[in-house]
Amino acid sequence: MNGKIYLTPGPTELYPQIDKFVIEAINENLLSANHRSDVYIDIHKKVVQNLKSLMNIPDDFDIFFVSSATECMDILIRSTVRKNSFHFVNGAFAERFYKTSLELNKVADSVTVEYGESFEFTEINNKPELIAFTQNETSTGVYLDPEFIYQYKKLFPNAVIAVDIVTSAPYVNLDFSKIDAAFFSVQKGFGLPAGLGVLITNKKVLNKSLELKSSGISIGSFHNIPDLKKFSDLNQTTETPNVLNIFLLNKVTEDMLRKGIGKIRQETIEKAELIYNFFDNYKYKPFVKNKKDRSPTIIVIDTRDETEKIKSILKSNGIIVGGGYGKFKNSQIRISNFPGQEKFHYEKLINILSKS
Ligand SMILES: *Cc1c(COP(=O)(O)O)cnc(C)c1O
Repeated sequence: MNGKIYLTPGPTELYPQIDKFVIEAINENLLSANHRSDVYIDIHKKVVQNLKSLMNIPDDFDIFFVSSATECMDILIRSTVRKNSFHFVNGAFAERFYKTSLELNKVADSVTVEYGESFEFTEINNKPELIAFTQNETSTGVYLDPEFIYQYKKLFPNAVIAVDIVTSAPYVNLDFSKIDAAFFSVQKGFGLPAGLGVLITNKKVLNKSLELKSSGISIGSFHNIPDLKKFSDLNQTTETPNVLNIFLLNKVTEDMLRKGIGKIRQETIEKAELIYNFFDNYKYKPFVKNKKDRSPTIIVIDTRDETEKIKSILKSNGIIVGGGYGKFKNSQIRISNFPGQEKFHYEKLINILSKS
């Protein structure tokens, strides 16, 4: 470690004690164990239980381990959309989901808002089979109220309601009975190395994939829902998985459960208030103007033409923040506020910036 603190949107600062957990995995010979062995099955079973307890995921949902969040978008479109999907586009990651559907030759419709803003209620005219939401848009720092999402479940009871929670999990308190699928990757809110995606789906997603398959539509070969389900019922994965990361996710979720999700949420809110309060009164302001749309976990600041200067002042003091995303690369910084990141990191950041 070079002594720097990474307050980047992801990959980000590793969760405390990861070094100890990695050594434990090596010492227990876990990384040489077969992924069909009892050693692996035991870890798989535990991490699924931990995630269900931590995020209040009902028992009849399945949890699949794949390679990334982007892959989850691909799996969901392939497995549940014969023809139509609909996308709420509030930034670059939502746009990626939308493009995935187009690239898989589906008829994808969308409603797009200005970056930094959120949605008004929007009528959807056709009957989409999947409706996609990016609940925490990492490119803009916009947080979508879960209640906004739930109303579409009521309006479209047959559609798969799919929610990207990559940078809000495990902070976001989702009511899984009001959605059908959610996904995240572990290099964001769980503070792990990249290379593991977690896809959470209910029976509707499974049934839709079986229906498409039996009507002769290709739902893909690698990581299709029926195969993922067949192996997850055995507490296994279809192929040799990222065992180290699954082990680490087990350790991190164990630690989060010990701490309590209530406390994690409370601390996240407190740290977010500290950061937003500072920037609301600073020369560079938060990008998201409407307070109710501001993400507690990804904070985007308009730093205009001083982006490089600010990043380098922080860097020389040991703090790495993210640049803006895409066209905002040189005019914004992005600061993450994940469960593994401690309040004093932000106090230090504020202290440095107050003096410059
Ligand atoms: C990072 C991110 C993704 C992509 O995650 P990968 O693990 O790189 O595939 C998708 N959606 C959001 C909101 C993200 O922040």
